[in-house]
Amino acid sequence: MKKIERDKCIIEMSKNHTPVEKIKSGESITFECLDCYGNQIIKEDQNFDGIDWSFNNPSTGPLYIEGAEEGDIVKVEILDIRVEDKGVMTSRPGAGALKDKWDKLECSVIPIENNKAIFNDKISIDLDPMIGVIGLAPKKESIRNTTPDYHGGNMDCKRITKGATLYLKSNVEGGLLSMGDIHGVMGDGEVSISGLEMNGEVDVRVTVLKDYSIPTPSVLNKDLFMTIYSAKTLDEAAIKATQSMFDFLVDNIDITKKEAGNLLSLIGNLRINQIVDPLMTVRMELEKEIFDKYNYKFL
Ligand code: CA
Ligand code: CA
Repeated sequence: MKKIERDKCIIEMSKNHTPVEKIKSGESITFECLDCYGNQIIKEDQNFDGIDWSFNNPSTGPLYIEGAEEGDIVKVEILDIRVEDKGVMTSRPGAGALKDKWDKLECSVIPIENNKAIFNDKISIDLDPMIGVIGLAPKKESIRNTTPDYHGGNMDCKRITKGATLYLKSNVEGGLLSMGDIHGVMGDGEVSISGLEMNGEVDVRVTVLKDYSIPTPSVLNKDLFMTIYSAKTLDEAAIKATQSMFDFLVDNIDITKKEAGNLLSLIGNLRINQIVDPLMTVRMELEKEIFDKYNYKFL
């Protein structure tokens, strides 16, 4: 299987980048990824003056996907995520939901043992590795990897784990896929600005879907289908993520608008991906079983 090494990385997604690797639709590839600090934080008591904070959220790539044209759906199946043996976290004044609680930058380096983060002598946390930044080149201006949007990017969706499928829309020829910002584990909201930030590797299978209509970005796993939306406010992101799921239901299964609205009100769950990036990200989750009942087959 092809592999892209972690020094081949970018800090923004852009149609102007030269691809570092190329694959055919349906092939698999490994992305070796740096943590969101570019592996610059090694220990808690190091001198942070030497850190280049602008080298933030590097994503490995971009990968050129043969046959992907503007408007095609790029299906990214997450086959595996392997993480290294330590996780890093930071909190800092002015950032996140706890922004006025800190006097200075706080850093934690958390060891991993037997697939658990050893948080302290009382608490250990099971790992559930996920990909924070994953996306394609945007149609127009470049978008920094700090920011989630219609192209994917820093969505910080804790459901993008091994076994999940992400649907993105190609805006440019070749799609230009990149990913990074792996979290060993993260709570919805990512409230104090970091997940358990880790170096690692991701295996994916990438398939181009022609003439397929599905909201993007969206995620499918064995239990749930999820529409994702990022906007300036949580309110707007919540409304758009909900409307995206509603439109998808009405357009693709034999259900009335009234039923679709009622259904989302009864068993659809709005969840916050993150509240700490330049745009806020929300997802609407609906059980995949609903689509099965109407014989809707996800490609
Ligand atoms: Ca992130
Ligand atoms: Ca992160």
